[in-house]
Amino acid sequence: MPAIAHTLEDVRRRIARAALAAGRSPAEIELLAVSKTKPATMIREAWGAGQQAFGENYLQDALPKIHALIDLPITWHYIGRIQSNKIRDIARHFTWVHGLDRLKHSRRLSDQRPETLPPLNCCIQVNLSGETSKGGIPVDALEELALAVNELPGLCLRGLMSMPDPASPRETQTAVFRDLADLRRQLEKQTGLNLDTLSMGMSSDLEPAIAAGSTLVRVGTDIFGARK
Ligand SMILES: *Cc1c(COP(=O)(O)O)cnc(C)c1O
Repeated sequence: MPAIAHTLEDVRRRIARAALAAGRSPAEIELLAVSKTKPATMIREAWGAGQQAFGENYLQDALPKIHALIDLPITWHYIGRIQSNKIRDIARHFTWVHGLDRLKHSRRLSDQRPETLPPLNCCIQVNLSGETSKGGIPVDALEELALAVNELPGLCLRGLMSMPDPASPRETQTAVFRDLADLRRQLEKQTGLNLDTLSMGMSSDLEPAIAAGSTLVRVGTDIFGARK
């Protein structure tokens, strides 16, 4: 595996190329470096190469790293499955949560968010056809959840997230990305909410995600190498 500065540079170049090919500005797309299962030393190395936002899936893996890197003003994103017994730690240690899909979890995250911190930024995960993941709310329940989340004082609703099966055909992934972009537009129109984030695209599918309008790509493998 080459040095992280180089893999990061390659990913940034891919993002810029994909943005320009879609007639977009590369500055519209944020790179979230997914550091799950990787050691704090690698995160520190990526920070040294200019990366400031990191995504983690497993709390027992993430919390020691967050503490070890407390000297760096990293923006931590929780991108794993939300479970009731994890909510307190997610609310305290993260700036963003992707994958919100239940009102009960939303209420508890809001209640547990320390008042000394700004509201927790969140994206609602939508389960679109062509997805195999168990996470995500069905499309017909999205509006109600979005309006409810928008009322919670400890949360700041930023947008939508989805994760097509990386093994599905490219056309299926592209369809999921386009559907999520359409959903954001519809939801904004129906509710008047301002949703500035479309969290979609990973190592293998960031190009079609950006073509469809992604504003935040979550990239692990192509920065830090394969996971065990
Ligand atoms: C692991 C993970 C990623 C990163 O996937 P790569 O294929 O390694 O880039 C992105 N999003 C979520 C939700 C993940 O769990």
